[in-house]
Amino acid sequence: MTTTTTADPAAELSAVVGPQPCVARPHSGLEHRDGPCRCFVGGPAPVHVLRPDAAALAAAAHSAA
Ligand SMILES: [Zn+2]
Repeated sequence: MTTTTTADPAAELSAVVGPQPCVARPHSGLEHRDGPCRCFVGGPAPVHVLRPDAAALAAAAHSAA
């Protein structure tokens, strides 16, 4: 008898899909750890994250060019 229900659908979604990039500012290194971007509808603000792999890729592309 499983009666477990998630009180917060957004938290459940986040647990499944993980952090989502901020759609409003896609190139600013911002992402939402609590679900998809809801900036356009007054949702929670994104957090700034550093992606080491992305930085490495950018550096590699820069040096190769
Ligand atoms: Zn956003």
